[in-house]
Amino acid sequence: MNAATPSPRKEESAQQRWDRIPVLKTGDDYLASLRGRGTRLFLFGELIDEPADHPIIKPSINALRASYDLAIDDPELATAWSPLINDRVNRFLHIVESPDDLVMKNRMQRRMGQITGTCFQRCTGLDTISVLHSITYEIDEKHGTHYHQRYLDFLKEAQRKNILIAAGMTDPKGDRSKRPAEQSDPDMFMRVTRRTDKGIYVKGVKAHMTGGWNQHWICVMPTMNLTEADRDYAVVGMIPGDAEGITYIYGRQSCDTRAMEGGEIDQGNAQYGGQEVLVYFDDVFIPHEHVLMDGEYEFAQDMVARFTAYHRASYVCKTGLGDVLVGAAASIAEYNGLEKVSHIRDKLVEMVHLNETIYSSGIASSHEAKKMPSGIYMNDAMLSNVCKHNVTRFPYEISRLAQDLAGGIMVTMPSEQDLENEEAGEIIRRFLKGREDIPTEDRMRILRLIENMTLGRNAVGYLTESMHGAGSPQAQRIQILRGMEVDKKKWHARKLAGIRQEA
Ligand code: SF4
Ligand code: FE
Repeated sequence: MNAATPSPRKEESAQQRWDRIPVLKTGDDYLASLRGRGTRLFLFGELIDEPADHPIIKPSINALRASYDLAIDDPELATAWSPLINDRVNRFLHIVESPDDLVMKNRMQRRMGQITGTCFQRCTGLDTISVLHSITYEIDEKHGTHYHQRYLDFLKEAQRKNILIAAGMTDPKGDRSKRPAEQSDPDMFMRVTRRTDKGIYVKGVKAHMTGGWNQHWICVMPTMNLTEADRDYAVVGMIPGDAEGITYIYGRQSCDTRAMEGGEIDQGNAQYGGQEVLVYFDDVFIPHEHVLMDGEYEFAQDMVARFTAYHRASYVCKTGLGDVLVGAAASIAEYNGLEKVSHIRDKLVEMVHLNETIYSSGIASSHEAKKMPSGIYMNDAMLSNVCKHNVTRFPYEISRLAQDLAGGIMVTMPSEQDLENEEAGEIIRRFLKGREDIPTEDRMRILRLIENMTLGRNAVGYLTESMHGAGSPQAQRIQILRGMEVDKKKWHARKLAGIRQEA
């Protein structure tokens, strides 16, 4: 085909894009919706025919699938009434109508963390639709555009079909001392390359996108504040994950190939895992109906700040993982016959204290939410940043304590294949036993789970993502600095000290 003539798939309309996605009710529906999409995904240097069935990818799909299952098993927690379509919808697609909605979201996130023990990838989409409610409304107020109605139309269809949305925020950034328009490679930040009467074309890369391949739509949006010179970089749009021009390159994780060894004990958590992908958009078309910002650069900063206010409180997800790790540490102590020893109980108390401190700041941020002009509520930014800052630290200490209680055997233990071997297995079963009534295999399973969460595959979700996801520690310190109102604090101090000052 001539380069100037786009293929019918490339310039398909908004309706055609929706028509390809069925209504999804169950986890099975979700799994089926991922198959046969014809996406281009690289893993270990090869294009993967059917990523949905790949043993390394499957656990990450299971984690998202759990969000469909939970909505059926516990609708009170994981669904909400949507006035947009007058029906119950998955809470991961519900707009925030009150502080209570944010509190319920946090409770659901903790529960999802307990169920999966990993990053379940769906909150970035939820926090994206939350921020877009107020941002599109405010752009329209200022510029007389029609983004908010487009947004509402998209969301209604998303709720009806019960689909997943990935957030494509982080650009590679290139030379950090330069702004987007100053980079030697103009695609280092995502930009609009062409505008036609039907829509726009975008080009660029979004890095470490959480659950990027597993979701039906990707929302691309700016990663930082922009200036007038960066106008073409001020773009927000909804793109189906199987749109023409997208290439995925899968992010590998520590110990990921254990999933290809057969067996399950050595994986630690064979069922669930996270996913991050590098996603290249090579002149990908977005019809006007799915463009939610194009050139309104002055809103980029607010968009990022509001997204982080939502998302940094979403990191209470890690308290669900913390619950699992506390449970694993308590179990290994019990299997070793040590559960009544005072210093062990004290270490468990310390782990719980840290875990609940994270939860307190996140849930407080939701209770203190404020109403935006568009009518939606937004998390208290200070408490949300404090929550995420706690998350950059406490899971590391909780993990240290879990490893302390696990003992060195966690990393010197023989493999599952050795356990299955007649001769080696007999020695292992006899000598790696702890308490008489606990099978050696159960003890090994718990140790492998602690390994999985603190230095294996799900340490990506529990530790490094806790450090860098939703912004690295310094990003929260900048926000805390901006909001800390030190002048007010000085005023209180000086007043009590009897120093004369203006009221
Ligand atoms: Fe959700 Fe937590 Fe994963 Fe972010 S890191 S998508 S908040 S589970
Ligand atoms: Fe994340």
